[in-house]
Amino acid sequence: MPLSVRPPIQALPSYSLTSDLLGFLRCGLQYRYTRIGNLPSSHPVQLWFGQFIHAVLEESYRQMKEGKKPVPPWPQADLVEIMDRIDRRLAARNIRCWNKDSEVLGRARATAAVNELGPVLFPLINQAEVRVRGARPLPDAVKKLISRDIERYEMLGVIDVVTEIELFKNPKLRGNKLLELVVEDLPKAPPPEFEVIVDYKGMKRPDLDPKGTSFKEIYDWQVHTYAHLRGLLTTKDVIAGVLVYLNELVPTKTDFFALRKACKARSRDVLLPKPGSADEDTLLNWKAKHDGDEPPLLSFDFRLSRAIRVVPINEDSIQKSLAAFDKTVGEIEVCIANEAKATTKKLMSSWPRNSSHEPTCEACDSKTYCPDYGAITCPRVPGVKP
Ligand code: SF4
Repeated sequence: MPLSVRPPIQALPSYSLTSDLLGFLRCGLQYRYTRIGNLPSSHPVQLWFGQFIHAVLEESYRQMKEGKKPVPPWPQADLVEIMDRIDRRLAARNIRCWNKDSEVLGRARATAAVNELGPVLFPLINQAEVRVRGARPLPDAVKKLISRDIERYEMLGVIDVVTEIELFKNPKLRGNKLLELVVEDLPKAPPPEFEVIVDYKGMKRPDLDPKGTSFKEIYDWQVHTYAHLRGLLTTKDVIAGVLVYLNELVPTKTDFFALRKACKARSRDVLLPKPGSADEDTLLNWKAKHDGDEPPLLSFDFRLSRAIRVVPINEDSIQKSLAAFDKTVGEIEVCIANEAKATTKKLMSSWPRNSSHEPTCEACDSKTYCPDYGAITCPRVPGVKP
């Protein structure tokens, strides 16, 4: 009797949309050290910020959904109790803030996220922290260049929030400011029932500066890919993604003055308050009376409009985003192959470096030995090679 031969073992590498795709595009070398090499960050403030606010929002929504609490706003003491618990949970994984001022700011933003954003966002939520996955064939052009025997790869992601909206059946949604902003930004009228995916970003709203790396396009790919993977699980139309820039809920003093500068210059790249509005007046005329005075918060409507960016979803843009994902996975695989082949300077020569985004370099542990750190802002002595 002929016995069948066991087929060769096929590896199916997994690529996450945030950790892998965004990490590599931010800087290949940093991605190699932190994600592939698992090198822990020496100052995980950014990691703490993102995880802390995400976790506070998730826990607060869970308590409301289970009927333990009403729709926010809630008393500060209730929020402090939730925030302390999340802090202890993160500390157990050695994710700490280490900086008192940053911790105070993080807590202020988490409070605003629950007590100001929560009342308009939580009633729309259908599911939180939705895991999505799908497999994609590796492009033929890439297969020739890589060393691993791979035919396909797995794409993974976690959608922060899926909202399920029945526009005309739910009277509670009438007058919902967040929903109004979403519907306003859609290119055509939405169907009666639809889904919107929401992704929280622990960052300020990027300006529309074509010269700098704003990551706007990259986040658009992320949302479209989420929409594609979510579309495999639901019968409803996923018509938009909403990026929530959480820093806009409580901007820093630096952000306030940057906005004032843009307002004076009437910049078209920055979302500004309406001319003649009370927000514009505050922005242009506020003066500190004492040292250390913090600028006032502008109206919630304006902060919400800056915090929200709506990305309409359509099939063309989904296909473009999937192609961009394939291309990036191909580039990562090529770097892995190059590193395996290289004989000297394996890491530095095999992974691309991206020093065009200053905040990323500033927070990077590799900056002490990275030849590209400061390449844009610091002139080098002519004739001296790094
Ligand atoms: S310093 Fe900047 S360019 Fe160098 S590895 Fe870090 S992020 Fe990349």
